[in-house]
Amino acid sequence: MKILFYDTKNYDKDSFQDTLKAENFPHITIEYTKSDLDPRTAALAEGFDAVCAFVSSDIGTRTMEILHDKGIRLLLMRCAGFNNVDLETAAKYGIRVMRVPGYSPEAVAEHAMALALASNRRLYKAYNKVRENDFSLSGLMGFNFYEKTAGIIGTGKIGAAMCRICRGFGMKVIAYDVYRNDSLTDFVEYVSLEQLLSDSDVISLHCPLMDSTYHMINIDTIKQMKDGVILVNTSRGALVKTDDLIEGIRMHKFAGVGLDVYEEETNNVFEDRSDEILEHSTTARLLSFPNVMITSHQGFFTREALGAIASTTLQNAMDYMAGKESPNDVKIG
Ligand code: NAD
Repeated sequence: MKILFYDTKNYDKDSFQDTLKAENFPHITIEYTKSDLDPRTAALAEGFDAVCAFVSSDIGTRTMEILHDKGIRLLLMRCAGFNNVDLETAAKYGIRVMRVPGYSPEAVAEHAMALALASNRRLYKAYNKVRENDFSLSGLMGFNFYEKTAGIIGTGKIGAAMCRICRGFGMKVIAYDVYRNDSLTDFVEYVSLEQLLSDSDVISLHCPLMDSTYHMINIDTIKQMKDGVILVNTSRGALVKTDDLIEGIRMHKFAGVGLDVYEEETNNVFEDRSDEILEHSTTARLLSFPNVMITSHQGFFTREALGAIASTTLQNAMDYMAGKESPNDVKIG
């Protein structure tokens, strides 16, 4: 099988090539391109059997149609999320979509806690102050997480890991999900979304982006939160309505906001650093607040997670070749 690997970074190539060698996938060859998959680049897939893409790729209707024209039958997503994939069109053309559902939930959950702690104790500010020989503590006061309430929205693999981390900090853990996770019920109390918003000192988002979760954090839900809450989003940017978040920050609702994902990330807003783009960017506006910390979608970025992504993606390709069903198939609905 020949796979065209889009949006290649050096670390992707290293981990996939290492895994190809170490785990012995003799029938798979990969060609790497730096271009991301979108309607302009989909035609590059001519002559390949499968394409491998990422959360940043634009795999809407037009891209799917071109992939179909070029004879692609398998789309390997090397990530958990698939909100950027037109599944209806994939199904119409018989293109199988496979993903990596849980490569390292702890990688993302540990980053979520790092963002919560860093924004609570203003570590980014402390780091810069000390480097400039300013050893004063002004502007650095936070609050103890011990015995406070963590509210986890979405208790799948990553949310469950976050619940365990919060319990380790001695926090009371409450959660909201459309389904209960039975492995958590001895220390997590499931509550309504309204109760979670009003009772939590730290709120962390771990549900997928879907029609029902789009902009779930908006001015109405922000107003229901406690004053001085910490909000963390490592899930998908559009769970939060950015303009409303900015309004909430201006209302002094938040002690801290930690974001690994933001609405504009798919527009590559920060690759073109022109003043005009930055001026109109809501992300740049967010960065102007001293209690906001943003990282660049790095939650998944650990050695263990990259190895697991490569291994599962290649196993997905093997299952496809063997005609085997897989729990990693992405289906509509
Ligand atoms: P998962 O499928 O295991 O869990 C998602 C949970 O959300 C499920 O329990 C589901 O029932 C719940 N859910 C669905 N709709 C909901 C709603 N309306 N309200 C509350 N809960 C709802 O997924 P996961 O592996 O834990 O990943 C969660 C998300 O994390 C992914 O969808 C992805 O967007 C994001 N992610 C981010 C990174 C990163 O690097 N920052 C890496 C991987 C995944």
